Amino acid sequence: MKFLVVTKQQLLILAFFIAFLSIFFCFYTSFAQKPEINNNYILPSSSQNNFSMFNLQEDLDAIYSSNEKVAYLTFDDGPTKIATTKILDVLKENDVHASFFVIGYRVEEFPNIVKRAYKEGHFIANHGYSHNNSKLYKSKNSFISEILDTDDSISRAIGINDYHSYIFRFPNGSKSTKYSVAKKNCKNYLKEIGYSYIDWNALNNDSIKKYSSYELLNNLKNSVKGKNSLVILMHDTIDVSKSYESLDSSIKFLKEQGYSFKTFYDLVQGQNLK
Ligand SMILES: [Zn+2]
Repeated sequence: MKFLVVTKQQLLILAFFIAFLSIFFCFYTSFAQKPEINNNYILPSSSQNNFSMFNLQEDLDAIYSSNEKVAYLTFDDGPTKIATTKILDVLKENDVHASFFVIGYRVEEFPNIVKRAYKEGHFIANHGYSHNNSKLYKSKNSFISEILDTDDSISRAIGINDYHSYIFRFPNGSKSTKYSVAKKNCKNYLKEIGYSYIDWNALNNDSIKKYSSYELLNNLKNSVKGKNSLVILMHDTIDVSKSYESLDSSIKFLKEQGYSFKTFYDLVQGQNLK
């Protein structure tokens, strides 16, 4: 009877073959399980830091109940040629910084104004690309694209790669009844892509009707009564009321009342996001 004789060399070849098979199997399974990457979900690189957006959202929500006498001036719907420029002039004269919730397509139109605002130390926040609710809430993809495309426009305007604005403001606010279900879903999408959102707790009603600068100041005075920490909604547009005309007196009034001014940089930087 002849015994099966296996040489050392044959054993070695067999071992290599088994090793090769297991490596091949590992690679195959890991690639097979990799999800398809959808370009719309790729974040700007600066957003991929280790941070919890939850903290930023909590900090933003906590502004309203804070005892600190702070005013966050916020301007929506710009940039526009006349209003934003005049507002930047008034802010500079008063040595005050603000936050601008810009619209993407307007950033494309007036990139130099956004660049100026950024260079002068104002926070550039995100108000969506089109300011058109039917586009914004069309689908998850369109909502996310509206935000990321706006950040892309800001990046090009200010000359910073992968600018991440971190804070979004829903057109008409997050609490308005129109599109309320869509907005609820979108709050989760914001979390997924590393953004928080903020509304306001004070305003001068500059988008409601045409008010004089005296009336705008009065509206603001009534709106801030009894509140310590303020997120003030105004607009850097001129189609309804001209907030830039009442801005100087509004800032002086707030200073007299003991308010100091902050931008959202103060919160975002506190989270080590930059
Ligand atoms: Zn708006």
